[in-house]
Amino acid sequence: MQPPSLRDRVSLAAALLAWYDFHGRNLAFRASGDPWRVLVSEVMLQQTQVARVEVAWVRFTGRFPTPAALATASVADAVRAWAGLGYNRRAVALHRAATAIIERHGGAVPDDLAALEDLPGVGPYTARAVTAIAFGRPVAAVDTNIRRVVGRVVAGHGWAGDPGLPLAASAIQAASDAMIDPGRPADWTHAAMDIGATVCRPRAPDCADCPLRTWCAFARSNDLRPQPRLRARPAVRPRPSSFAGTSRWLRGRIIDRLRELPDDGWMRFDDPIGVHSTERVAAAVAALSADGLLECDPEGRVRLPSPT
Ligand code: SF4
Repeated sequence: MQPPSLRDRVSLAAALLAWYDFHGRNLAFRASGDPWRVLVSEVMLQQTQVARVEVAWVRFTGRFPTPAALATASVADAVRAWAGLGYNRRAVALHRAATAIIERHGGAVPDDLAALEDLPGVGPYTARAVTAIAFGRPVAAVDTNIRRVVGRVVAGHGWAGDPGLPLAASAIQAASDAMIDPGRPADWTHAAMDIGATVCRPRAPDCADCPLRTWCAFARSNDLRPQPRLRARPAVRPRPSSFAGTSRWLRGRIIDRLRELPDDGWMRFDDPIGVHSTERVAAAVAALSADGLLECDPEGRVRLPSPT
């Protein structure tokens, strides 16, 4: 791997940011640099598509505009406001993070990487994203898109069916940290994500229209080959969705039913749900309880966690 020289990195960042200024995605949650709102958006984006996050983020941050607002609400309220995002454990973790921000940091999201990573539900990627986007520090948050873009630019790896060794995560992180623009870390992060999502796609990178082409090892190596290295994905016959048979679907339906109850309402789950037997429903309820997403009473009824 030959990392770009300092001069090339400066030129590359300038080209990337110029592209972003015209072509970057205009997403609702990018309008705010408030650390709490950025943290909420990054937690939501961990496992949910951008379009769904946009809608939910507006609703959630309207309901809980500060860590204090969420920390003083019940877990049940947090889970209700998480509707439409899935993976409801993130709502519980975010509620715990808000409480930790109040107790350890006086109500302000910390601007320190280690302190951020110490918050419930916040891993290295999310901590770096908040640090770059909200606090303007030049640390790269390497998500799937950025990993692919940087891997292709610096090493020419990452094409579909690539038989070569992928770069180590540490090498991608180091290259990304070296490439981020120290003057516009937030925009650089958004720009690199957008290039990966809209131009440098996994199986069909649009190198002809990419602002990084001049510095990209992948594009250079393809220029030298008479045959394209990308192969079309074989046609796959769509199969009927089996999502309704998964435990994730079942857990989501149980939480949905509890969300619809009036405050502090209890419910029993004694019947099958969809294709899931009574036993599987009981196992899902037990798992949700263990995750802190609901609470049980001695009579076997459950509800979303509520303050006592
Ligand atoms: S030139 Fe092609 S491979 Fe390189 S970053 Fe752009 S789209 Fe990706």
